[in-house]
Amino acid sequence: MIDNRIEELTATLRGLDDAAHIDLIRTLEDLKSACAAAQAKITAELDNARDKSVGAEVALARRESPHRGGRHLGFARAMQEMPNTLALLEAGELNEWRATLLVQETACLSRDDRATIDRELCSDAATLAGLGDRAISATARARAAELDPAALVRRARRAVGDRHVSIRPAPDTMTYVTALLPVADGVAVWANLKRDADNLVGTGQAGDRTRGQVMADLLVERVTGVETVAPQPVTVNVAISDEALFGDGETPAHVDGYGDIPAAIARNWILHASDDDVAELRRVYANPGTGALTSLESVARCFPKGLARFIDLRDRACRTPWCDAPIRHRDHIKAHDDGGPTSEFNGAGLCAACNYAKQADGWQAEPIRASLHTYQLTTPTGHTYQSTAPPLPRPARKRIAPRRFEFDIIWAA
Ligand SMILES: [Zn+2]
Repeated sequence: MIDNRIEELTATLRGLDDAAHIDLIRTLEDLKSACAAAQAKITAELDNARDKSVGAEVALARRESPHRGGRHLGFARAMQEMPNTLALLEAGELNEWRATLLVQETACLSRDDRATIDRELCSDAATLAGLGDRAISATARARAAELDPAALVRRARRAVGDRHVSIRPAPDTMTYVTALLPVADGVAVWANLKRDADNLVGTGQAGDRTRGQVMADLLVERVTGVETVAPQPVTVNVAISDEALFGDGETPAHVDGYGDIPAAIARNWILHASDDDVAELRRVYANPGTGALTSLESVARCFPKGLARFIDLRDRACRTPWCDAPIRHRDHIKAHDDGGPTSEFNGAGLCAACNYAKQADGWQAEPIRASLHTYQLTTPTGHTYQSTAPPLPRPARKRIAPRRFEFDIIWAA
């Protein structure tokens, strides 16, 4: 429907000059802001009418992760306290992200102080006109610091609670390990690595490594304890097809917490596992045609370890559409109390937030297909969404004689 209208609009203006095209781009941009304002208003209305899980349902409707859904809900609530900001968004004078920055910078304030900033900065569009993201944040933060300095101190103290370490893939089989730390700790970590790397480079002990490479090597050594007396064993879980491991198959292997890597790199890890490395291999059976895992059954209510691992391997990340958070819970798709069995078919890997949202009133789910595993989620408003497990690396059709190896492979079912 919207597609048609935009196509109509662009068709009407086709053949116009460059200036008209620029005008059209601005008009569409204004429209996006106005849409964001409308979404915020509707979300707030839903929020007032219902008590739970609005964020999760808004996320599905917007094709976003539940985490983002929570943020959209917070934004919608804030817009009710910031009518001038909402008006600028509606008029296209602010876009959704800049309005979000104003919400973030005033989040620690009382309703009154927040309203003051809303009025001072947004009652006249000229006040923030031409300011970039950073300048808008800085302006709001400076005013917040004047109105309630204690709130900013409390906020800084609370922010410490958000410290964490995360991992995400980088190109070329590299990875970013990121730590969000209080500024003093972060600077200490960096300065410490830099000082020792400078020292090694300066005294010629770094070989032909650059300072950056030495810093990275020191970080790995110190965190994994490789250089200490009793290193802690850690596990890197790899799913690889039998053909890719034993033959010359090139189906990528999957590394938990990272993603796909070329088969050759996984083979290399296995071949060159040193004596100290514990290499464990579990056989998992998959259908050569679809890459779907074959089933396991169990009577226990809690998912037993083997079955839980099976579900982790099959689902890889939270199964809620558009959520790619790591799996924290193995959930009964159809609740155990409603007669849902503890089985691979009725099990799904979910992140903590999605598992919690699904328990709220009015949410229902039902497994509908075993291969590739698919279940259907029905939201309290009656909208349905399907979640299908990703296919595994496909095993060879012809079974290769198993050897005495110790690692993790996918076999043909
Ligand atoms: Zn999730």
